[in-house]
Amino acid sequence: MTLELDITPLSSWMPETPYPLLIAGPCSLETEEQALSTARELAKDKRVHVIRGGVWKPRTRPGSFEGIGSIGLEWMKKIKEETGLMVGTEVANAQHAENCLKADIDVLWIGARSTTSPFVVQEIADVLKGSDKVVMVKNPMNPDLSLWMGALERLNTVGLKKLVGIHRGFSPFQETKYRNYPGWKTYIELRRSMPNLPIICDPSHIAGKRELVGEISQKAFDMGFDGLMVESHIDPSCALSDAAQQFTPTDLFKMIDKLVIRKQTIEDAEFGSKLDQLRNRIDILDTELMELLSARSEIVNQIADYKKNNNVMALQIDRWTKMMNNRIDTANKLQLNDTFIKILFQLIHEDSVRQQTEYIDNME
Ligand code: PEP
Ligand code: MN
Repeated sequence: MTLELDITPLSSWMPETPYPLLIAGPCSLETEEQALSTARELAKDKRVHVIRGGVWKPRTRPGSFEGIGSIGLEWMKKIKEETGLMVGTEVANAQHAENCLKADIDVLWIGARSTTSPFVVQEIADVLKGSDKVVMVKNPMNPDLSLWMGALERLNTVGLKKLVGIHRGFSPFQETKYRNYPGWKTYIELRRSMPNLPIICDPSHIAGKRELVGEISQKAFDMGFDGLMVESHIDPSCALSDAAQQFTPTDLFKMIDKLVIRKQTIEDAEFGSKLDQLRNRIDILDTELMELLSARSEIVNQIADYKKNNNVMALQIDRWTKMMNNRIDTANKLQLNDTFIKILFQLIHEDSVRQQTEYIDNME
């Protein structure tokens, strides 16, 4: 499904600059001194457009720092006055949104935990109705595209047009390298489903560790994100939240200096024809892959027939385990990513069991 939202393009509210949208600032505003000194350092670099700072922090577990509260909005006003930059914070309920309107905060975002709750999103939308605030929506904790789109639709329906999606990764169900696994597939689906929506990446919450923020940021630019929201603290070692993933402003700029921003495409005949040739080869290989799958499916039918005649079940776990181990060995030899091969063969096998059970049903 493709949905054309009524969107004001990023270029019309983002100050002119050659760099994609860059939002930077502390995870949480902690003291006036910490907020202002971080913002002052960040504002020295013209690539920064918006200073972020959380004042209400919905934490997964109780007992952690839950934000300084509305006083932080006063510090944001000072940041705005002093630096001339836009300022942004997270809102998690209608009261937060009202306070932000009063304090004239420019950018409000709905956090990952709140996007999961349609009533909360609707209450925030109802408060912001009639304003021309920039409203950003982080993906929900779980890779549920409909919840993410639903929140954006609710905001658009009340007339908010300066909308942006923020990809911050998903809560992992097992230990991973990153704090939140990137799940780029869901980002790609959002791009396809809402083609005119600007989408930025939050590499800090994906990475969880500052050493990994650079690689996620580069990946984000390679995948066509419109900008980044990155956490930065004047002294990360004493940050009250997300200490491990925050950069000092100096280190943030060092990381950003290394990023390569690629063009979407280039108007160059030689580049175009080389790319066409490579794409043709991919098209041919994909057709061959499908021909192989079709031949495999023929054999699956023969197996189904054979099992049926001998009164044997369609699913045989032993065979399945052996087959999977063998495929992963082969994947390693061929230098293919073994997680990818595992998922691929799970799908292939699932379809083969479906085919065998349907085959049996049809014969009865
Ligand atoms: C944040 O931006 O500081 C934050 C809490 O993010 P998320 O909602 O992505 O967890
Ligand atoms: Mn944070």
